[in-house]
Amino acid sequence: MTMVRNTRQRQAVVLALRETPTHPDAAWIHTQVRRALPNISLGTVYRTLDALVRDGVVMTIERAGQATRYDYKHAGLGHHHVVCRGCGAIYDIDAEDVQMPATGLPEGFQVQDVRLEYHGVCEDCAAGEKRG
Ligand SMILES: [Zn+2]
Ligand SMILES: [Zn+2]
Repeated sequence: MTMVRNTRQRQAVVLALRETPTHPDAAWIHTQVRRALPNISLGTVYRTLDALVRDGVVMTIERAGQATRYDYKHAGLGHHHVVCRGCGAIYDIDAEDVQMPATGLPEGFQVQDVRLEYHGVCEDCAAGEKRG
């Protein structure tokens, strides 16, 4: 494992994530990255994503029973997610629009990141539920 060798893969993965407003899974990212790096394997994409998550460049959105979704931390700003349980759509909310939890933190704890997910059903899925 050398760091330098992974640079192009890293750039390609970051680029794929930056260019999409969606929150794709690794398989989608793999498809995109293969346009630039035709020989890249899905395993390499997973390892690259893991490294990016460790470095704080990319965040994950995990949902039970579904593939992990990945998200580029745009402009270095934290943001939160609205997740539809029906169709799996994920929307962004700016972090400034959400209040920090001010109470209940262990003494001396320094908050570096706040993540919130709102789970529910989007307008389309809610309409579908009523029909069906
Ligand atoms: Zn939906
Ligand atoms: Zn997002």
